[in-house]
Amino acid sequence: KQAALKRVFARMNDRQREAVLQTDGPVLILAGAGSGKTTVLVNRVANLVRFGRAASTEGVPSWLTEENIAYLRDFAAGSQTDEERLAEIISEDRPKPWNILAITFTNKAAGELKERLAAMLGDSANDVMAATFHSACVRILRREIEPLGYGKSFTIYDTDDSLRVVKDAMKSLNVDDRTFPPKSVLSVIGRAKDELLGPEQLAEGSNGDYRMGVIAKIYRSYQNTLKSANAVDFDDIILLTVRLFQQYPDVLEHYQNRYKYIMVDEYQDTNHAQYQLVSLLAGRHKNLCVVGDDDQSIYKFRGATIENILSFENQFPGAKVIRLEQNYRCTQRILDAANAVIAHNTERKGKTLWTQNDSGEQVQLYRAADEQGEARFIVDTVLKNVENGAKYKDHAVLYRMNAQSNMIERAFVKAGVPYKIIGGLRFFERKEIRDMVAYLSVINNPSDSVRLKRIINEPKRGIGDSTVAAAEQISAQLGIPLFEVIANAESYAAMQKKTKPLGEFVQMILELQKTAEDEPLSTLLDEVMSRTGYHLYLLAQGFEGQTRLENIEELKSTMVKFEEENEDGDLSQFLEEVALYTDMDRTDLDDDTVLMMTMHSAKGLEFPYVFLAGAEEGIFPGRMSMNSPSEIEEERRLAYVGITRAKKRLYLTTAAQRLLFGQTTRNRLSRFVGEIPKELLDVEDATVVQHRVSAYPQQESRAIRTGGLSSVEATQPVAAKIDLKPGDLVAHKVFGEGMVLSVTPMANDLLVEAAFERGGTKKLMANFAKLKKL
Ligand code: ATP
Ligand code: MG
Repeated sequence: KQAALKRVFARMNDRQREAVLQTDGPVLILAGAGSGKTTVLVNRVANLVRFGRAASTEGVPSWLTEENIAYLRDFAAGSQTDEERLAEIISEDRPKPWNILAITFTNKAAGELKERLAAMLGDSANDVMAATFHSACVRILRREIEPLGYGKSFTIYDTDDSLRVVKDAMKSLNVDDRTFPPKSVLSVIGRAKDELLGPEQLAEGSNGDYRMGVIAKIYRSYQNTLKSANAVDFDDIILLTVRLFQQYPDVLEHYQNRYKYIMVDEYQDTNHAQYQLVSLLAGRHKNLCVVGDDDQSIYKFRGATIENILSFENQFPGAKVIRLEQNYRCTQRILDAANAVIAHNTERKGKTLWTQNDSGEQVQLYRAADEQGEARFIVDTVLKNVENGAKYKDHAVLYRMNAQSNMIERAFVKAGVPYKIIGGLRFFERKEIRDMVAYLSVINNPSDSVRLKRIINEPKRGIGDSTVAAAEQISAQLGIPLFEVIANAESYAAMQKKTKPLGEFVQMILELQKTAEDEPLSTLLDEVMSRTGYHLYLLAQGFEGQTRLENIEELKSTMVKFEEENEDGDLSQFLEEVALYTDMDRTDLDDDTVLMMTMHSAKGLEFPYVFLAGAEEGIFPGRMSMNSPSEIEEERRLAYVGITRAKKRLYLTTAAQRLLFGQTTRNRLSRFVGEIPKELLDVEDATVVQHRVSAYPQQESRAIRTGGLSSVEATQPVAAKIDLKPGDLVAHKVFGEGMVLSVTPMANDLLVEAAFERGGTKKLMANFAKLKKL
């Protein structure tokens, strides 16, 4: 019979099968990256739903005949669909799909789990509760929250909202926000909630510490405000569910009986509150299976504690511990690199992963002269792989900080490569960037009424919707642009009350037009920021505003680049380049796109080709972690996560000098790269020989134009540049042949619109995208 079961789960190795068939009691699966932890979890759910305890290690029941097992096997292979016969065979206490709760860390992972279950189980997969901690708890609270004093239709506050409440609380308590930065206060409150501490307990635990005492007071006021607004914050969602279960045993019992089988993926990243939640829910039936990897714990800064995994056997007596050691994901070389890096951590249990996969190619380290060369390499490599049969979606670009994505996006846009950013907006979709582009567009062309409406009262300057509506009406009736109507507001009765703010606005735009004529774009942007009040508006938003300001600094980097590339590039040409980005929006409908995300959001995922961008000291590991050995270890675990996302090929990229947040820095090579044995690395150094791709003289002139860095004269060989006119036939590596529809000279290159045989009409930079004239 065991042999028959083995055939049912033929694709699994012995240990994995053991984990799948261990249906009852506490189980801990502790194993390294790519060893099939998530795969086991999916198969466990499928096994429970299909066969229940009929297929379990101890429980092959005596009534299960060889014939029955053969039938089960055929069913597992999808060749039998006789539900009646099946019902006869399998045990009666088979759990229903809705008795199973499978928790994962991100929405993307939960989505993938559901997909894989649907592939194995069909429709009944819909009834399995596969969710993140937060979404599972929100569901429970929506039904049960009332005894805790909230209404069922409570609002969920995001960080922005929460920060505003903290600030109000501080104001009413007369707490100075320089001694107590609101962002830090909010994060202390958040950590307290992770520990299940209320304001009183936080105060008690502070041992008379003055600062903690003050924060506890803010916490209390914050919590009261939330409650009276019938709102919860992100951390409350878990905390309140735990409280509910602790205080209302009948409610707990209901959910214990509902979720008879509980599984948690990425258990190493759970915090104390999440641990409590799981313990309570599993407290009755004890069918709890957690899977995790202590080497992949990367959320300590959010209160996650590896303790949960290390002490599982004590917390759940009789737990079965299963270790998986075979990696099925990566090539031997990628795995060797990952093992070598993580071996430098001291705080670990220690384990080695092996694989039967091919040794694969070396890990490629590409050292570019600057961030633009880095982006260029990534784009070229993607295009080369696609030409050789890979899909765009086989590629993931991972980075440490969101801001790194900008220059890489820009290169993808110019080369016509479709991409998507996971867990974040694409650069030009962000509100503050759209606002700035709208200002610039209005300065460039005041008749752009759509953009004008976007920013006329952003930030607020007393020009309300009704004024704008009245002006629009006049504009429609008289057939003149909106801007002209407001510029002559005093001539129209309906506008008379608002002539002052309207007049000031118009005056401001006219003066900024002057700036646009006389000054470089980056100066213009600074002026727009200060003259419009946008800078102050963002400063007033605290933490969120800070991120937005950084994004605007990145917009400035884009402008500096543009001006270097384009000697006499002006505002209107810059806006045309920006229009390239908007053009990309249309190709986004396509699912075959390169994926860009932070290393944190890549946890649990895998891709054939992975780029780790910015492998430099100060970026990865980040500057903030440099002083603390334990934070360096956390960064190293993140490196381990990043490296082990790659199935076939791993690329590490660096820039000798990097423009980030509007500033140029030079960073040394990341220590993590140094920890990879030399023989695993294939190093390409493009910091010295910059002219590998000769069509891009912009790289060299840049040092001079940004000033101060170096006065080295550009030694760029003259590039063989493509010259095109409408009607020409061209060829693109990926889109095939196409006919040129329009050509606009821009940035030492040509902005070309062409209709291609594959992919339809696209806008590209002709030289950057390596178009060939036919
Ligand atoms: P991570 O630690 O990154 O979350 P993991 O341990 O959850 O990784 P999985 O994502 O489950 O690993 O599996 C990694 C890859 O190995 C997947 O592509 C999966 O299909 C494959 N795999 C798992 N087990 C086997 C097996 N027994 N035979 C063949 N392939 C397998
Ligand atoms: Mg996994």
